Amino acid sequence: MSLSRLSVAVIGLGTAGQAAAILLARDGHRVEVFEQAAAPGPVGAGVLLQPVGLQVLWKMGLLDEVLRHGRRIDRLYGDTPKGKGVLDIRYARLDPRLYGLGLQRGALFSILASVIDPATVLHADSRVVDADSDNGRVRDVHGKSHGPFDLIVVADGSASSLR
Ligand SMILES: Cc1cc2nc3c(=O)[nH]c(=O)nc-3n(C[C@H](O)[C@H](O)[C@H](O)COP(=O)(O)OP(=O)(O)OC[C@H]3O[C@@H](n4cnc5c(N)ncnc54)[C@H](O)[C@@H]3O)c2cc1C
Repeated sequence: MSLSRLSVAVIGLGTAGQAAAILLARDGHRVEVFEQAAAPGPVGAGVLLQPVGLQVLWKMGLLDEVLRHGRRIDRLYGDTPKGKGVLDIRYARLDPRLYGLGLQRGALFSILASVIDPATVLHADSRVVDADSDNGRVRDVHGKSHGPFDLIVVADGSASSLR
């Protein structure tokens, strides 16, 4: 197996799958993405990006674009209906350079989608029901087998049925 150009399957086109597909293609690998949704898009309304996520976006060259679409968060404060404080986090207490970013999920999805390599193959409406790491093949819900792949990235979310 040559490490110079791998054939990679990415399962799931959430934030993790998008970022993995972009970075793997930038490294010269051939990428195919499998997403169960027929029309892939953002799920949910807002997201609070933490410093580690912002650092990844900086490395991808997307930080300025993301900052333009979000609102900087320096402090998270929560209290009960009676006014008793239950949460008080200030990023600067950890490091003065750190902050979070409140962002619409649609904005994050669109920014990442705009830089996906056009050569990346997207299989929409393709829920993966089996990923075989021994022979590098994935099988979708329609019974079609894909591969072989050198690497399978399972990015199907926290409720993963594959990991
Ligand atoms: C209400 C709520 C609020 C949240 N708020 C925040 C927040 O503010 N900040 C934060 O960092 N995180 C938040 N999270 C967690 C957040 O959802 C995750 O951090 C983020 O979405 C994870 O991205 P992901 O790409 O790993 O997974 P997901 O966003 O779950 O993406 C997984 C993708 O894989 C696809 N998929 C799943 N199974 C298969 C399959 N078998 N075959 C093919 N495709 C498949 C799904 O359709 C989906 O597109 C929140 C979660 C919830 C529920």
